[in-house]
Amino acid sequence: MNGYHRRVTARQDPAAEARKIPRADRLLAAAERSGWVGRLGHAPIMESVRAALEELRLAVLAGTPCPPAEEVEARLLDRLAAGARGTLRPVVNATGVVIHTNLGRAPLSRGAVAAMQEAAGYVNLEFDLPSGERGDRYGHAAAALCRITGAEAAVVVNNCASAVLLALAALSERLPSRRGEASLPVADAGAAGRPEVLVSRGQLVEIGGGFRIPDVLRRSGADLVEVGTTNRTYLADFEQALSPRSRILMSVHRSNFRIEGFVHDATLAELCDLGRRAGLWVVDDLGSGALFPTAPFGLGDEPTAGERVAAGPDVVCFSGDKLLGGPQCGVLAGRREAIDACRRHPLLRALRVDKVTLAGLAATLADHERGEALREIPVWRAIAWSPEELLARASSWKDALAFPGLEVVEARSAVGGGTLPGVTLPTFALALPPGNPDGVAARLRASDPPVVARIESGRVLLDPRTVLPGEDEAVLAAVRGAVLAPGPTAG
Ligand SMILES: *Cc1c(COP(=O)(O)O)cnc(C)c1O
Repeated sequence: MNGYHRRVTARQDPAAEARKIPRADRLLAAAERSGWVGRLGHAPIMESVRAALEELRLAVLAGTPCPPAEEVEARLLDRLAAGARGTLRPVVNATGVVIHTNLGRAPLSRGAVAAMQEAAGYVNLEFDLPSGERGDRYGHAAAALCRITGAEAAVVVNNCASAVLLALAALSERLPSRRGEASLPVADAGAAGRPEVLVSRGQLVEIGGGFRIPDVLRRSGADLVEVGTTNRTYLADFEQALSPRSRILMSVHRSNFRIEGFVHDATLAELCDLGRRAGLWVVDDLGSGALFPTAPFGLGDEPTAGERVAAGPDVVCFSGDKLLGGPQCGVLAGRREAIDACRRHPLLRALRVDKVTLAGLAATLADHERGEALREIPVWRAIAWSPEELLARASSWKDALAFPGLEVVEARSAVGGGTLPGVTLPTFALALPPGNPDGVAARLRASDPPVVARIESGRVLLDPRTVLPGEDEAVLAAVRGAVLAPGPTAG
């Protein structure tokens, strides 16, 4: 009651205030004078003018006094400057989450960036230079993928979700040619009804961003057959679930959660053996797609793409922008017959990958093949930092800033991006002085470039692990602005 009364008495006369709101053409003229119309074009300016006036009108109606016209103009120009930067902006990732899906997952290697820039013009994407005839879009990365994973054939699509969708759609339509040699007869192949894909109940997962295996399965035109229980699934459960409509035995890597305790799963090798005996396809959704062993980096035993291919499934699906460290794409690698079926499927056209991505992937694979992943691929560089290096970098920030309340603290970085659930890496972070962490974090995000930090135990932490080389100055400038700037803090 009291608050309401105060608000009313403090309030200006809204109608009188509303008459002070400057007209659109005055703001437009201000934008014109400052050169914004030439830089951005008329339509974006008009949109900003309208939005600025609408915001002001609402504020005035709510009782805020109308600022002088010059101030309204200045705010419009700020808004235009922000608009000119675009909505998609480079940011500094000081969260310590290496593969941060919200921050675009893998930052790319120098080789990948150069290759992508080169591919931006005309390229022989589907053009065979010696013959002058139509060439193969998918050949550009396939050979390297086969060398690295040991697969017979490979094809690249937009992301791993697409890869899974394509594999299920293409393979549920047919039976493998080895069906004829199957020793475990599963009645006749022509049985009516929708084809079936068998998945362990413990692997019917949602990967994040709404990618749920059961939903993708349905969209692919197949029926899901849940096998076993959430925590324990045996090969025998798969055998008992076989029907004349069975087409695919599927395994899904539990990328972003762990089941512990009383747990069993049929191994991929067991599924492959059953697939051979029953004459069915085997598809493995690996997800993160590490290309070399991760255990030496303290990441546990994330299976590598090569290990999964070696177990013998028809298709292994993995992401290009997780542990592979390249641009967003999805790889299907495996047996020639299955990959050929995927390549012939009409869905491939809708999922196909563009020239710039293919160029970036090929260059990232080249980094791997030259053995330079740890030096050249930012994801791996971030993972491979030693605690001593991280301590030195966080300490150098503290020394450069040299104001009270800063502290270098032991912390943990996550790998993230739907990989390695629960795995963290020891790090050293710079903790900013306590007090209003949300406000400080918001001001860091409002810097140019924005710096994204994390808050832990009431303090803002800046983790050097994910701050790319050359970004230290930007971090320091943002911290100075966020912590030392006068005035009230937001949030
Ligand atoms: C991350 C992940 C996906 C989705 O990969 P995108 O490249 O993001 O489409 C699918 N399956 C598993 C097991 C994953 O970890």
